[in-house]
Amino acid sequence: MRGARAKDDGTVTRAVTAGRKGEWTSRIVNPPVERASTHLYPDCATLRDHATRNRDHEYFYGRRGSAAQWALCDALTELEHGAAGTVLYPSGVAAIAGALLAVLKAGDVLLMTDNVYDPSRSMAKGLLKRCGIQTRFFDPLDLASYEAAFCASTAAVLLENPGSLTMEVCDIPALARIAREKDAVSLIDNTWATSLGFPALEHGCDITIQSLTKHVGGHSDLLMGAATASANHYRALRLRAQQLGQVVSPDDAALALRGLRTMPLRLERSARSALQIARWLRERNDVAQVLCPMLPGSPGHGLWSRDFGGGCGLFSFTLKGDDDARCRFVDSLRLFGIGYSWGGYESLALPVDPVKHRSVMTTPADENTTVIRLSIGLEDPADLISDLACGFAAMELA
Ligand SMILES: *Cc1c(COP(=O)(O)O)cnc(C)c1O
Repeated sequence: MRGARAKDDGTVTRAVTAGRKGEWTSRIVNPPVERASTHLYPDCATLRDHATRNRDHEYFYGRRGSAAQWALCDALTELEHGAAGTVLYPSGVAAIAGALLAVLKAGDVLLMTDNVYDPSRSMAKGLLKRCGIQTRFFDPLDLASYEAAFCASTAAVLLENPGSLTMEVCDIPALARIAREKDAVSLIDNTWATSLGFPALEHGCDITIQSLTKHVGGHSDLLMGAATASANHYRALRLRAQQLGQVVSPDDAALALRGLRTMPLRLERSARSALQIARWLRERNDVAQVLCPMLPGSPGHGLWSRDFGGGCGLFSFTLKGDDDARCRFVDSLRLFGIGYSWGGYESLALPVDPVKHRSVMTTPADENTTVIRLSIGLEDPADLISDLACGFAAMELA
């Protein structure tokens, strides 16, 4: 890019300019995709130099990346105020594992929000337990019991906002402040909002994690994760990822960078459509509750308005009806795919059962309702609403 990087540009502008370092992009718009395991050196002295320094942006061996991966790291770092660097991982789950293993050791206790993404819970119960790390789950809406859950061995807290499936919004600045007072590292799974919608480090977190598979990729054709950290933690993240052999390919990094450039537009559009659909759902008699923090009057809307600068297309609702009715509803949808993941350009509907994934929180689902999660894509919201109306009709006809 010509001229100095403007730190004061807004995040939408930075999504266009970030990571476009002059040496990579003065002659072409995007950084080159360099497929390479071996990097060559002019002589032995240079080889030794690079081996000992282990610096960012320095060619060494394929596992330490090349221009495309570095550009993506830079871009994600520049989008997060207060960040010193970003590490890439082959998936969001790998990013969560890599970040937790960078800050925890045997004998430590981890506090994990009870509405966490379910594979994070499995990681705690399997991998972390085997490593001698104990996990305690807490209700993020209950600050007093959260504070009481800390002990002398609590070394880290894993947060998520809004919570997976049930979309509760918690007071991250307060939760992160308490963690800091107790000398624990706070990590947040910030996949829902991204740095654009929720500046996690500014809100007091130490490490922010994203599944780039979702909004950054945006086209349902890529798996990747990232952890972005302040200076205190970046080095530890990077070293642990190197020890675990975590890498992403330059081709995948280029795909993620391409996605990042249009992410603000896609987020804005899908959030607007989601809000319109959430409003429509709320008026229906067959819907018990809409779990969409962007919707005024919905649970968590107050904190969402206070702390978030934007939303996205993902939300849930509870349907008056049993699992059979729910399946009839979802099966009859024409525009909504049935499948995991979210944040793609296409809409998805998924029956979910949060009760199975909670140990201390109650969920909005009861014996008379079931939960459906919608990921709203870039289709015309009027068409999506017609499709949902057909789904409700199919449910009633049976
Ligand atoms: C999908 C998801 C992940 C995991 O991402 P992958 O790239 O699929 O491994 C982590 N956290 C949340 C909140 C997610 O929705």
